[in-house]
Amino acid sequence: MMGQLAARGHELTPDPGEADVIVVNTCSFIDPAKQESVDTILEMAEYKKVGQAKKLIVAGCLVERYRGDIRKDLPEVDALIGTNEIERIGDICEGLETAESNAAEPYLYDDLTPRILATPRHFAYIKIAEGCDHPCTFCVIPQYRGKFRSRRFESVVSEATRLFSQGVREINLIGQDTTCYGEDLGIRDGLAELLGRLAAIETPWEKWVRFLYAYPNRVTQKLLDTIAAHAALVKYIDMPLQHASAPVLKRMKRGASGDIFLKLIERIRRTIPGVAIRTSFIVGFPGETDADFENLRQFVEAAQFDRLGVFTYSDEDTSASFALDGKVDGRTIQNRKRSLMALQRRISRAKNRTMRGSEFPVLVEGPSAETDLLWQARMATQAPEIDGVTLINDFEGGQPKPGQIRRIRITEAHDYDLIGTLLPEAEQDAVSAQGAPAPWQNPGAPRLIQIGPAPAQIPVR
Ligand code: SF4
Repeated sequence: MMGQLAARGHELTPDPGEADVIVVNTCSFIDPAKQESVDTILEMAEYKKVGQAKKLIVAGCLVERYRGDIRKDLPEVDALIGTNEIERIGDICEGLETAESNAAEPYLYDDLTPRILATPRHFAYIKIAEGCDHPCTFCVIPQYRGKFRSRRFESVVSEATRLFSQGVREINLIGQDTTCYGEDLGIRDGLAELLGRLAAIETPWEKWVRFLYAYPNRVTQKLLDTIAAHAALVKYIDMPLQHASAPVLKRMKRGASGDIFLKLIERIRRTIPGVAIRTSFIVGFPGETDADFENLRQFVEAAQFDRLGVFTYSDEDTSASFALDGKVDGRTIQNRKRSLMALQRRISRAKNRTMRGSEFPVLVEGPSAETDLLWQARMATQAPEIDGVTLINDFEGGQPKPGQIRRIRITEAHDYDLIGTLLPEAEQDAVSAQGAPAPWQNPGAPRLIQIGPAPAQIPVR
């Protein structure tokens, strides 16, 4: 939406007080996301009274799920844009069209779609597929995002090539199920093929490529071998497992068991030395007994994940699990979440402590969001926005610059974050520090506009 508006000559601003049109992009996956979306709509509606906003547009999954309710209960909203109607954004902002388009084709952008990065300019997400064919009973995503469909292979490669040429150093591939990539195009082991091609894109600087959201039974040996074979593919597997107790996994319609997962984890670690494995679990799924939860705890203890997230079950009225009996009370759910996170905190702290004194490459991100005294960086095994970070409290050699990949010596370890001394830059970055343009400064590259953690005002063009 931002890319299309910019392409039509509109100026984008992160300050709602100075916007003529405010667009709220929403999520409706679980209750807290819905609440946050509604709160934001109400907050932004105030700017129609106190700012210069003349129009409030609500876009995204909340529209898909509650179009009628929004229209009835939120008269402040002037227009709605569902997930497949993104291309209406320009016309609606310009007052050219107000009628909703019927039966739009499922939307998936391509390499020619105008795009503005919503992330800092040194990393980017690329969506490689949309929709999902899995039947997970707790999940409402397939109802709103439709059947699984992949972007064309060359379209992804072309977008990645352009992003790297513009100075992006880390690309994160996303989709509801990245490991199914290419199945609908008749490509076998499509994700492995794609990763191999992306790793082969020539760049004068070190680059990182990562994918997120692997479905466990789609993690093939070819995929693991490909990750192991290419330096540019970060040694990181994000694989939401959701649970480890076989009866719970069966009611989730995901199948498998903790024992099957342990064998897979062992194979991943054997194939990719030094790999970091991230997973997430849902606690309090209907019918989860104390024994099921204990099974999950024992599994987490045995698996020793590097990163782990825990979600509390959200009883969504259109999900298949809504009809299941054995609902777990809220207090028990919260206690289980606390217990699992306490266990993981101990595991994470112990793992971090073993890293003291070691040296690793990090991607320098800029001043820490937490304190002015430190800078923030990430190791390849720390994904943006979800994992811990590596904080820089001292440096040797040239002044750090956002977007550099440099080595760091770890000096302190916390539960999730690490702290270290940045080491002198490699020759290529030293050259850019002396005046030659660094990749993120390349004057010949098409301009990237940062909307993410943003400066106060963003010039477009
Ligand atoms: S694989 Fe993910 S997106 Fe697909 S149904 Fe399951 S939880 Fe939802």
